[in-house]
Amino acid sequence: MKIPNGQQIIEEFEKWSPKYLAMEGDPIGLHVGTLNKKVERVLVTLDVDEAVADEAIEKGAGLIIAHHPPIFRPLKNLQTDFPQGQLMEKLIKNDIAVYAAHTNLDVAWGGVNDLLADALGLNDTEVLVKTYEAELVKVAVFVPESHEGQVRKAFGDAGAGAIGDYDFCSYTLSGTGRFRPNASADPYIGEGGKMEETAESKIEVVVRKAEKDRVIRAMIAAHPYEEPAYDVFTLENKELPMGLGRIGRLKDEMTLDEFAEHVKKSLGVPFARVVGTGKETIKKVAVLGGDGNKYIQQAKRAGADVYVTGDLYFHVAQDAQAIGLPVIDPGHHVEKVMIQGVVNHMTEKSSNWQCEFLPSEVNTEPFRIK
Ligand SMILES: [Zn+2]
Repeated sequence: MKIPNGQQIIEEFEKWSPKYLAMEGDPIGLHVGTLNKKVERVLVTLDVDEAVADEAIEKGAGLIIAHHPPIFRPLKNLQTDFPQGQLMEKLIKNDIAVYAAHTNLDVAWGGVNDLLADALGLNDTEVLVKTYEAELVKVAVFVPESHEGQVRKAFGDAGAGAIGDYDFCSYTLSGTGRFRPNASADPYIGEGGKMEETAESKIEVVVRKAEKDRVIRAMIAAHPYEEPAYDVFTLENKELPMGLGRIGRLKDEMTLDEFAEHVKKSLGVPFARVVGTGKETIKKVAVLGGDGNKYIQQAKRAGADVYVTGDLYFHVAQDAQAIGLPVIDPGHHVEKVMIQGVVNHMTEKSSNWQCEFLPSEVNTEPFRIK
């Protein structure tokens, strides 16, 4: 098995959580070091602090994938007399790269918000706050039957044919390809100057327009022909909108106080702040990881019986009370569900690599209860 380089790891990660899903101005991507090196161990964490850097050193991780960008506001200096400068110095001296996937991982299917919705046991989930609607194209390619499987696999590996909860979707038709190579061609089938006929398949896949170039490159690399014939069609249909937060239903309804207990247990937190009397009936639940103060109106309009989010402000809590929307704030740190989520996803996608994805065991929750 091959040791991948950092670039390959991030390319695979970004098929799931592409940069274009991030909110404007969100400082995502490579924050520290280089991806241009072999990486045998990747540490996945919610936050990067000194304890996490020490953990990466101890575990021999050359790359950290973090949810919260470690350089959120632009640095004015890199003085090593202060904590942030010291952290950067430690990472650089130990050749540890740090890559951040923040709101793009919140929006991605199977990302932070889906992981939270799953942990809460929500069914029939939909996006709460729509932020991205992918334009789609259809790519059709003609390939000799012998190479059909290989080209279909290249499409799927590159992220083509991903529709909602499904991936590797494609359609194949059989037919006959005809062509005449000229005298200077180096044809895979046939010879220069002679008409040729061969059994070919036409493979069609749906691709996000933003990913079209990468997908076509992968298809051409897997195709046996010198000049593969392919078509790209613009589609009128759009992908399901993507976005922040999810709204879904509980299997059994419960009271707000029972639901608060359920939240604590499912998200592994010792307490939660609750807005509401406790007796409200809860069936439809909106959840948004991190700071969801901005979206209480959306949660109300979407028909949520309760809104689960972090960092709730005093006045926003009062607003929620006024519009009759119960809120549960289990804290911001519940986003730690992303750690195992990323480890699971990347472990599954990297079975051909000699590379381990390790969950950080450092607790970066700054609060404790007294
Ligand atoms: Zn967050």
